[in-house]
Amino acid sequence: MIEPVIAIHGGAGAISRSRITPDMQRAYEEALCEVLQGGGQVLAQGGSALDAVTEAVRLLEECPLFNAGHGAVFTRDAGHELDAAIMDGRSRACGAVANVRTVRNPVLAARAVMEHSPHVFFVGEGAEAFAREQGLECVDPAFFSTPHRLEQLREAQSAGAEFIVLDHDAARVAPLDETRKMGTVGAVALDARGDLAAATSTGGMTNKWPGRVGDSPIVGAGCYANNATCAVSSTGKGEAFIRAVAAYDISALMEYGGLPLAEAARRVVHDKLPLVDGAGGLIAVDAQGHVVMPFNTEGMYRGCLRSGGKPEVAIYR
Ligand code: ASP
Repeated sequence: MIEPVIAIHGGAGAISRSRITPDMQRAYEEALCEVLQGGGQVLAQGGSALDAVTEAVRLLEECPLFNAGHGAVFTRDAGHELDAAIMDGRSRACGAVANVRTVRNPVLAARAVMEHSPHVFFVGEGAEAFAREQGLECVDPAFFSTPHRLEQLREAQSAGAEFIVLDHDAARVAPLDETRKMGTVGAVALDARGDLAAATSTGGMTNKWPGRVGDSPIVGAGCYANNATCAVSSTGKGEAFIRAVAAYDISALMEYGGLPLAEAARRVVHDKLPLVDGAGGLIAVDAQGHVVMPFNTEGMYRGCLRSGGKPEVAIYR
């Protein structure tokens, strides 16, 4: 009898506890609980892990507290370029989009790529056109903007043109350390049939160069799922997660090295990523329902819900 489970993250970062007010902390924790309940309900009703991670990430995209969809960070030229990926552990089918500017829920576009195209990765104009053809909701780019994110951009730009900031930098938006925060959202799940899935979505990094793509939509770096091993969603400095092929490396350590999930994830987050300046974290679940949420920063917005249980959420270590 398999006990379904879902885990989510809303970004990793170095947290200054002193900056968070009880109200802000509550707002984040409540948002995480609601998302877990939304994704968990899919599993409780017998839905697939794939449907559960799609719904959880869609809800995270809709929440302005997190850096994906509405509430996404700004690029250097004050635009939004959104990236997302999804993977089905049953077949290792996957889909991804990068640099989309008007698709309301990039995770739904990634899923449509997986299910309704012969390809796995669409970018820019082609991704937009495909999403429109699929009937997905498109919005004015201003939909993604929030005053807090604009302020973050202005702050980053006043610190220098090359100052590219991971999310949760503005104390009022998310009271994490000034220079070392990440955003991005993700979900991993195991369903009652024993199937695994993962999804990740992001606005990227504040003040990123137009056209820059991070790890989130890169299958194997920011997202990976394989029923034989695990499902993983990453958050952190995307360039490093790409260089480390972080998500797939956990799966490979399990598959070829015979490591249990916890040890494989620990090695990647605490031994391998730091070697390539890889600040961040990830969430992962294996086919037995073990969940790990390691990070090498001061904190990571995260949570987990087992069927029949209560959402468990945390921000700090
Ligand atoms: N990994 C994301 C990126 O590099 C950022 C993040 O997780 O905050 O685009």
